[in-house]
Amino acid sequence: MGQDQYTFQDPVKRYPSIEPPKQDQPEPGLDKELVPQTDRGEDSYRGTGRLEGRKALITGSDSGIGAAVAIAFAREGADVAMSYLPEEEEDAKVVAELIEKAGRKVVQLPGDLTDAATCRQVVQQAADGLGGLDILVNNAGRQIAVEKLEDLSDEQFDRTFKTNIYAFFWIAKAALAHLQPGSSIINTTSIQAYMPSPTLLDYAATKGAINNFTKGLAQQLAPRGIRVNAVAPGPFWTPLQVSDGQPKEKLPEFGKSTPIGRAGQPTELAPAYVFLASSESSYVMGETLNVNGGMPSP
Ligand code: NAD
Ligand code: MG
Repeated sequence: MGQDQYTFQDPVKRYPSIEPPKQDQPEPGLDKELVPQTDRGEDSYRGTGRLEGRKALITGSDSGIGAAVAIAFAREGADVAMSYLPEEEEDAKVVAELIEKAGRKVVQLPGDLTDAATCRQVVQQAADGLGGLDILVNNAGRQIAVEKLEDLSDEQFDRTFKTNIYAFFWIAKAALAHLQPGSSIINTTSIQAYMPSPTLLDYAATKGAINNFTKGLAQQLAPRGIRVNAVAPGPFWTPLQVSDGQPKEKLPEFGKSTPIGRAGQPTELAPAYVFLASSESSYVMGETLNVNGGMPSP
């Protein structure tokens, strides 16, 4: 391994300022087809034993941010249960192999999380497969841009809420049966929680809900020794963006309006999740860690 996340370097130049060509993938989109490809830490994330022996369930860990978190957690010493959609099997296989290559156990759990029973089953299978559970990363999400409120269908509104917030509730609730003191729940929210795009009304509303749910649940579970926090990414280059997450014409300038001047690469988010999962953040609760290239956030 050459450079890793600890190498002293200029963050502006750590990755090129990409100009993704216009492209389109059917939802949910595959990392495999993304142009340009992303850095999820395959050749750059170095573990230092921060999650030794831990057992993590990560939703949406086949691609993008979830994949980067899965790779990082495995290299930090955690076994990982991966949740993703059945049509993402190819992407999931690549990540599963990297987890095994790190010497850790992997459990693959394809299933649609818009269904409550599936959410409960995924949690049970994760706990059975790993022999327990002490980290939950609620990260699966969908984002479909729609220009006009008149065109935002009831079906889309419902599916976005089911995926992005109902599933977080169903999964966290089911996970409680397995989480002992010391455990950590981390929810992926977004800068959209405070700076909603006019084309992402349903999506941004779910992200506001995730922030709020995180802060409430954190207070409820603090006395039980279970910490709940959130990570709020800015613009990260992932398959979400090319499966109608952004209007097509906006792709070439994706991430350029941030103070750092470029989109983030998924592995640049991994350390935030590692920090919140690890016992080193024992006094951090109900926090939203913003990782967004410098956009002012509350
Ligand atoms: P991604 O497409 O790689 O990951 C999203 C994953 O969600 C998919 O891989 C899929 O496995 C999962 N998913 C979607 N619908 C599902 C369903 N019904 N059942 C089960 N799994 C389902 O994209 P990403 O950008 O890595 O997204 C991960 C999280 O980050 C999402 O919550 C997203 O809202 C959030 N986020 C992303 C950005 C960004 O710029 N990429 C910014 C802020 C927040
Ligand atoms: Mg995916």
